[in-house]
Amino acid sequence: MKTIIEPFRIKSVEIIKMTTEQQRKQYLKDAHYNLFSLKSDDVLIDLLTDSGTSAMSTQQWAAIQLGDESYAGSPSYYRFEEALRELAPFKHIIPTHQGRAAEKILFTLIGGAGKIIPNNTHFDTTRANIEATLTKAVDLVKLDGLNPEVIAPFKGDIDLVRLEELLETKADAIPMVMLTITNNSGGGQPVSMANIRATKALCEKYGKPLFLDACRFAENAYFIKMREEGYADKTPKQIVQEIFSLVDGMTMSAKKDALVNMGGWIAMNDDELAMKARNLLILTEGFPTYGGLSGRDLDAMAVGLREVVAEDYLHYRITSTAYLGNALSQIGIPIVKPVGGHAVYIDAKALLPHIPALQYPGQALAIEMYRLGGIRACEIGTVMFGRQTDGTEQPASMDLVRMAIPRRVYTQSHIDYCIECLEQVYNNRHQLKGLKITQEPPMLRHFTAQFEPL
Ligand SMILES: *Cc1c(COP(=O)(O)O)cnc(C)c1O
Repeated sequence: MKTIIEPFRIKSVEIIKMTTEQQRKQYLKDAHYNLFSLKSDDVLIDLLTDSGTSAMSTQQWAAIQLGDESYAGSPSYYRFEEALRELAPFKHIIPTHQGRAAEKILFTLIGGAGKIIPNNTHFDTTRANIEATLTKAVDLVKLDGLNPEVIAPFKGDIDLVRLEELLETKADAIPMVMLTITNNSGGGQPVSMANIRATKALCEKYGKPLFLDACRFAENAYFIKMREEGYADKTPKQIVQEIFSLVDGMTMSAKKDALVNMGGWIAMNDDELAMKARNLLILTEGFPTYGGLSGRDLDAMAVGLREVVAEDYLHYRITSTAYLGNALSQIGIPIVKPVGGHAVYIDAKALLPHIPALQYPGQALAIEMYRLGGIRACEIGTVMFGRQTDGTEQPASMDLVRMAIPRRVYTQSHIDYCIECLEQVYNNRHQLKGLKITQEPPMLRHFTAQFEPL
């Protein structure tokens, strides 16, 4: 069969409020052309993010009823810990209310002025939390990963040559090495097992721990199964276990591959670091067996962790994302290739070469998709990364628009509607104009900046 059906059926529905193009023009104006400022009720297909937007299963909702809200030592925590250990057998597992809370704790402990943390590509909150401690966040993804045209199986791989150079010359400044799987800011591209293994070997040589920013560990594992020699016959779960056996710790946003709407954790083997992390956790998140979450949230995560490594789910997840990407590609829309796991990234710079980077071609495209079709996507380019720490502005290396696919939420007909809308945007592309920023905060400006069309 050619059609990949959704491996679930719908038991409870959420009504979408339909809107007209005329209404959406006004909503855009009211939102100062920042799609984060829209009311989500006014969005037809919300592809802003795959973060916290998953649909939970009947099993997860049932598990929520089992949640135990004891302040300390809740069985919900132990069920979560057991489910996670089955995949990632870290000695210390510390829940947090979301991924950035885990990052904040980790980098507060290991960061500081003059330090450097390398990664394939730091995600925006990761970079911001590192820079908030005056540590330098260095991106060392292989050059292929910066070129949307190159088709390669593992464009999330870190450049081992540049990593070793940095380790050799700046060893004292580097408290740890990180890898982001899959590489979100670089197009949702996977990292190979060989690259994780080789990074670990380098880290051992220089005596540095390796941590994963592992938000999409299951999707990354499925790419390894499909693309890396020697893994075709392994289950996703076995591959996930192998990935985590290679590293010293992880930060996680459970809003991604734990299939829940809120949650996260930090996990590690280092006893001393874990003790310090728990102390900070108590200060900002709560007692170590709940970490800013309700007991019921921990139970939903425990079930999500089992469902996310199911082969049928991952097959549907990865092929349905590719379905959207391949259709756009056939229309002639330039996208980051090959298609990543959780999203399709449109190369706005290539699609709209008449709009200069500092007039934000990605923002212009995202605005047009909403106006025409009520689709909300996310600029990942000069708006997100262009502002430098000294307040000046530079074009980002890529100007992308991300169509992130919420897990288990939209059907193929929703996706077909998006494809139709983008075909119209494509035919109209020469008419699109850039924007200017009229107001912005000093950090993470994409969330709240205000724009005006040029
Ligand atoms: C989402 C995400 C984070 C941050 O997690 P939050 O739960 O949103 O705080 C960190 N790294 C990556 C790669 C992510 O995708």
